[in-house]
Amino acid sequence: MPRPPNYYAAGGYDRAAKLRKDDDWLATRLDHPGSRIVPVWRNQNLVTKAEGGAPARAAFLLRDQLVGDPQPEVFLGQIGDECFFARDLSAIENPLEIIRAEVPLEFADLRRVGPLVGNRDGSLMAYARGILYWHSRHGFCGVCGAATKIEEAGHVRRCTNPNCNAQHFPRTDPAVIMLVHDGDRCLLGRQKIWPKGMHSTLAGFVEPGESLEDAVAREVFEEAGVRVADVTYHSSQPWPFPASLMLGFYARATTTDITIDPDEIEAANWFSRDFLKQNIRGGKDFFVPPGIAVARRLIDDWVAGNHDQ
Ligand SMILES: [Zn+2]
Repeated sequence: MPRPPNYYAAGGYDRAAKLRKDDDWLATRLDHPGSRIVPVWRNQNLVTKAEGGAPARAAFLLRDQLVGDPQPEVFLGQIGDECFFARDLSAIENPLEIIRAEVPLEFADLRRVGPLVGNRDGSLMAYARGILYWHSRHGFCGVCGAATKIEEAGHVRRCTNPNCNAQHFPRTDPAVIMLVHDGDRCLLGRQKIWPKGMHSTLAGFVEPGESLEDAVAREVFEEAGVRVADVTYHSSQPWPFPASLMLGFYARATTTDITIDPDEIEAANWFSRDFLKQNIRGGKDFFVPPGIAVARRLIDDWVAGNHDQ
C-alpha cells in the first residue's frame, strides 16, 4: 500500500525553479493581487491567534496588508496562479504593528503550531522559515568575508567582491533517524532535554564523506553500543528547525547489549512490540513523538509489521 507523505513533505506547490531567474515574470507576480507573502519573524511564523476554541491557522498576507510594502525576498513557489513569497520581518521590533489584518495574529514557533495548520500550509511555512534562516546566517561570504547579495529570487547569494564572486546556495543538513529492531523488540532512547517519559528512535547528523548507511551504523554504535546490519530506507521529512532533512531508516541489530554514551543520550532500552502496541498512545511514564514526526512513522509502521526486515 502506498505510504502517505510525511508531514511538511509534499506540500503540493510547484517550486518553479526555472522562473527564479526571470526578473520580469517575478515582478509581475509580486504585483499580482493574488500573490501571498509568508512572513517569518525571528524564526517564528505568522498564524491566527487560537481563540474561542478555534485552532491557529496559517496567516499568509496580501502585499497591501504589509504597511510600507516591504519587498519579499524569496520566491517559494506557485499553485496555479497563486504565488508564494517569503518575507523576513526580523529587523522590525514589533512586526504586528505593520500588518493590517481583520483577525488577531501572532508569531509562533512552527514546532508548536505546525500540527494545527495542515500539511500544505505547514510545508510552505517550514520552507519559508528554513530558507530565511539560511539568509540570516549568510550575509557575508564564507570565502572572503565580503557582503553577499541575493540572486535568483532568493535561492542564491553571491559575493559582492568582484575578485571572489563566489555563489552560495541554501544548505540542508542530512540527519539519519533509525529504528533498530531485534526480532520482536526495538531500540528506543531518550535525551535528557526531552519531556519526562518521551522515548524515540536514535538519530544523528551525517558527516562529510559518509554514506547514509554508514551514518546509521555509526550513530547507533556511538549512542547505544549496538551493532547493526541490513539498513533499509523508510522515508524522509523536511525538518528545517533550523536546517535538517530527516532520513528515516530501519536497521537490524547484530548485537544486543546496550552501552549508552551519556553525553548523547540519557537512556536506551529494548521495547517489545506488545509493549508498544499497548503504550503507543502514551502515558506520563512512557510516550513516543507525535504523529507528524517521522520517528513516529517509523515506530507505527514497525509495530504494525509494515517494514522491510
Ligand atoms: Zn567572497
